[in-house]
Amino acid sequence: MDLNSLIRDVENFPKEGILFKDITPLLLDAKGLQESIDKMAEEVQDVDFDIVIGPESRGFIFGVPLAYKLQKGFVPVRKPGKLPYKTIGQSYDLEYGSNTIEMHIDAIKPGQKVIIVDDLLATGGTTKAIVDLIEKLGGEVVKIVYLIELEGLNGREILKGQNIVSLLKY
Ligand code: AMP
Repeated sequence: MDLNSLIRDVENFPKEGILFKDITPLLLDAKGLQESIDKMAEEVQDVDFDIVIGPESRGFIFGVPLAYKLQKGFVPVRKPGKLPYKTIGQSYDLEYGSNTIEMHIDAIKPGQKVIIVDDLLATGGTTKAIVDLIEKLGGEVVKIVYLIELEGLNGREILKGQNIVSLLKY
């Protein structure tokens, strides 16, 4: 099926000049949702890994069903102050200003192999911060899976050396 047709372009959201890729039509479509998760699972079926990790909130939407399907655990990455236990944080620059993300300090054990999942690769800043957190805890990123990649923003550059796959490219 054509997953592209289930992605809605919304102009000037959340601010002027941004073309937002709205995944809610895909989530609403039973076959589209199933096929997205199944295709992500195919991309990692031959990869040896321990844990799926995804950032809030759309990384949860794809990360948890993928982990469930592959019989792995899931680690949530969240905005500051949301996780209840002891956390480790990483700040990163945005076009204007900066952002911080956190994960629990015991989420990943040294030597564990991790797959990162998110809905969309734009600049790669968010994913790079997640890679840094995983490595601080002694984990190893073995593959990164996205539903959508915005190729024009060249997010792969900041993620050099990583094994990256995306289902849809724009
Ligand atoms: P980045 O850190 O620049 O790669 O941005 C990644 C995050 O921002 C993704 O998790 C997306 O959810 C969100 N995002 C960035 N740009 C867009 C866009 N044009 N449409 C939808 N989501 C976006």
